[in-house]
Amino acid sequence: MTVKIGIPRGLWFYDYYPLWKTFYEELGAEVVLSNPTNKQILDTGVKNTVDEACLPVKIFHGHVFDLKDKVDYIFVPKMMSVYKREYICPKFCGLPEMVNHSIKDLPPLIDTEINFNKSRNSLKKTIYNFGSYVTKNPIKIKRAYEKALKEYEVYKSEIKEGSFPIDGQLNSKEKKQSDITIAVMGHSYNIYDKYGSMGLINKLKENGINIVTPEMMDYKVVNQHASTLEKKMFWSYGRKLLGTAMYLIEEKNIDGMVYLSSFGCGIDSIIVDLIERKARKKGRLPFLLITVDEHTGEAGVNTRLEAFTDMLEWRKRNEGNLSTHG
Ligand code: SF4
Repeated sequence: MTVKIGIPRGLWFYDYYPLWKTFYEELGAEVVLSNPTNKQILDTGVKNTVDEACLPVKIFHGHVFDLKDKVDYIFVPKMMSVYKREYICPKFCGLPEMVNHSIKDLPPLIDTEINFNKSRNSLKKTIYNFGSYVTKNPIKIKRAYEKALKEYEVYKSEIKEGSFPIDGQLNSKEKKQSDITIAVMGHSYNIYDKYGSMGLINKLKENGINIVTPEMMDYKVVNQHASTLEKKMFWSYGRKLLGTAMYLIEEKNIDGMVYLSSFGCGIDSIIVDLIERKARKKGRLPFLLITVDEHTGEAGVNTRLEAFTDMLEWRKRNEGNLSTHG
């Protein structure tokens, strides 16, 4: 019988989904994806998570709930670190425990630890462990992982070219009527989740605005800029966001920056402040922070976004190099 593995559409999903989908399909499993985020998933997530959790963690719980009666296993790895000497947010590390304690009657979780701070040998064991839910054949697992890595590279280059293959976000090549370019900043699961982000990327694109996101950047360039910080940023998402912002501010090839953050995010409380200071002081770049939680109304977000893009268009038409923002 084919093993069914559920993959929740949240958190690391936007970064790694093609890798794990290919891996398990190559091993002969059926991969079942939770539905795109919607009101029901959000409400279920909110009901089944501790109040203190951030919105993306609540949404993740909603996706796990959505899969609970449809699959044999749910993929909820314990993500500690995906780069040497760096860490992911603590909420990623404790995710399997949080999910298991919050939602009753779950199928078993695939909760293998991913920790790139451990030795190469231990990483091999990690991959075997992930595969062993479907087969005990190490050669098959190795081949499936190699194939998955190739798919993952293709996915990354598609995003770099400005296409958003997951969740049907508009392809940036479709429209280019405006000469405004905005950097949409934030954790991947915030900016690419259509429902959670209130369609931020789509709204900008529908107005013909060109966008860039951290995932479109060259990793080497981002790392070079992040490495000039006085102290190493040891959170991987933080390093990527700061390096991207520093590069874009220096290059001066964007007209403004919109940062989408989740209320109560510990990492963003530091990163946003650092980026905003750099944007305003060094680049004199208009900066808009949108902070969301489950109570945020879309109308308010739309108004702020429209005012921001109107200001950028006015500035482009009339201002030349003079600043209108202090
Ligand atoms: S980095 Fe922030 S938004 Fe992401 S899971 Fe951690 S607290 Fe939540």
